[in-house]
Amino acid sequence: MISAQKSMAAVNSFSLLRDYARAGRIVARVRASPGIASYPSSINFLTANHSRRYLCRASATHDEEAAAKAAAINADSGVPTIFDKIIAKEIPSTIVYEDDKVLAFKDVNPQAPVHVLVIPKVRDGLTQLGKAEPRHGEILGQLLYAAKIVAEKEGIVDGFRVVINNGPSACQSVYHLHLHVLGGRQMNWPPG
Ligand code: 5GP
Repeated sequence: MISAQKSMAAVNSFSLLRDYARAGRIVARVRASPGIASYPSSINFLTANHSRRYLCRASATHDEEAAAKAAAINADSGVPTIFDKIIAKEIPSTIVYEDDKVLAFKDVNPQAPVHVLVIPKVRDGLTQLGKAEPRHGEILGQLLYAAKIVAEKEGIVDGFRVVINNGPSACQSVYHLHLHVLGGRQMNWPPG
């Protein structure tokens, strides 16, 4: 019973941090100067100071960085993440693609006109890409192929980006491996 309560407390703390991080992103957008496009380019954020990745790297505020570090603490504790609830359909999401191994759904805080997350339905230790082992080879391939299917479905197969944030220094906030499929606008390089 006590252990169940501890787990719930951990989940609740994590949810709070996640929501806090999300709020931080929204605040960052609100602070952006007028005239900046809704979906900022890398060049924009280097000058306009409103990208979540810029916030992580340059620490204009430490919200995202702190949330990412806090999320990492429970990364391998087996605590369920928000994605488990999405997989279980306990919380709603806009599903773009699904098969028996993979789920793809729209990101709640899109960074581009198309922003879809592709996740394994079973985490199997893949809290992050850095935890991959030889046995994960098949699912990693399936995730990448699913990203291509998503790009086709979303009409961006001619130009899209796949991103995996790994660990606190990359501002990973959910410890269930996920690919970000981004597109629908010009992508710039280097990324933030
Ligand atoms: P990370 O920062 O770990 O690379 O990416 C996690 C992503 O999950 C973020 O882009 C964030 O917007 C997204 N996310 C977090 N919570 C939810 C949620 O409840 N629903 C959906 N659809 N996306 C979420």
